[in-house]
Amino acid sequence: MFLQIKNMSKKYGDSYAIRDINFSLEEGKFLCLLGPSGSGKSTILHSIGGFIDHGGQVILDGQDISKQSPEDRDVSTVFQSYGLFPHMTVEKNIAYGLRFKGRTEDKSQRLKEAREILDLVGLKGYEKRYPSELSGGEKQRVALARSLIVRPKLLLMDEPLSALDAKLRDQMQVEIRRIQKEFNITTIFVTHDQKEAFVMADEIIILNQGKIVNQGRPDEIYNKPKNAFSLDFIGQKNIFADSYVRPEKIQIDEDGEEFVITDITFFGPTIELKIENSQRKLKMLVLNQDFSYQKGDKIKVKYDLEKINENITCTDPASC
Ligand code: ADP
Repeated sequence: MFLQIKNMSKKYGDSYAIRDINFSLEEGKFLCLLGPSGSGKSTILHSIGGFIDHGGQVILDGQDISKQSPEDRDVSTVFQSYGLFPHMTVEKNIAYGLRFKGRTEDKSQRLKEAREILDLVGLKGYEKRYPSELSGGEKQRVALARSLIVRPKLLLMDEPLSALDAKLRDQMQVEIRRIQKEFNITTIFVTHDQKEAFVMADEIIILNQGKIVNQGRPDEIYNKPKNAFSLDFIGQKNIFADSYVRPEKIQIDEDGEEFVITDITFFGPTIELKIENSQRKLKMLVLNQDFSYQKGDKIKVKYDLEKINENITCTDPASC
């Protein structure tokens, strides 16, 4: 495996921020670390980047880099706050990436490489601008370019889109993925936003209280959650004692069970219905297509309940 994290732990005082973190990643893959606030996502990311002293090992492309400083690691980090220098032009900010890693002595060569990479992130013509003259999305691209210019083996991104408005965020998700694929760069991306993780990731790790509770492809994480926490954290659901059904899996069917519609919420492309009968209350989602029901109407639906898996915590991906 290209990247292996072995028994990574970090303690602050008496409590563990992360504990027994083990996972691996193939070259070129895009991994999202997903979890609620305080679950340990940033601690893992910054331990891999070399900014936090931790227990355990980080093995990148066969080399144990656990004791290397951030500058010496073949790893670049894009921080949430972008970290651009306000007094430097865009091209100088990007060229600084090379200086930080001690890669290129020749200043004009650094600037030439900066201009080349600006083109790749879609900012040709922005060379002489200052960060204050850029939009949020443009600053994000500059920060990305500064990390990519050193051609790192591993790119780390800590909630890089959290400052952007919803529309720009959607665009940048697609754009970052395009650039990541173009560079074939192995990437770990931290987010607390499940939609973002689903859009971007090849693989998702779900964290809770400093431990890995689920790891898999987005469809596996959604369709086959390994435990109650993952089920509860991801997507909408109707949960009963030991079983659940996702709202979109409930189908209108004339041969189904009868319910009364108690509430209707319009989401645009989809419509959420709250329905109930003497047995159950359910939430269901229907597509906004020939929808003509009203509150109080009767509706017949079919659904299968799925079993909730045991509340196991998997610290070893092999058991996940
Ligand atoms: P996330 O990125 O998922 O929000 P963090 O990795 O930032 O979570 O934090 C994980 C846990 O470690 C939290 O309980 C947080 O309070 C704690 N923590 C993080 N940094 C420090 C620190 N410098 N000192 C003490 N506790 C910390």
